[in-house]
Amino acid sequence: MKVNVNKDVCIGCGACQQISDDYFVLGDDGYAEVNEKDRGKEVPKEKEDVVIDALESCPVEAIYKEEE
Ligand code: SF4
Repeated sequence: MKVNVNKDVCIGCGACQQISDDYFVLGDDGYAEVNEKDRGKEVPKEKEDVVIDALESCPVEAIYKEEE
């Protein structure tokens, strides 16, 4: 599973960062992104649950799964 954030939709609430234990972080622009180390890669198995929690908790559905 790979995930990404649509910054055009994100409102910068920070919920995903808290829920995902910094898998998602707020960038310099104030909007969420995948942290640099994990960006563009498969979500590590041990992070899958919190990443899905964050995806489902985003109030504007800005987080999405990328096509394989
Ligand atoms: S939870 Fe959604 S709206 Fe809030 S910072 Fe994360 S991606 Fe953006």
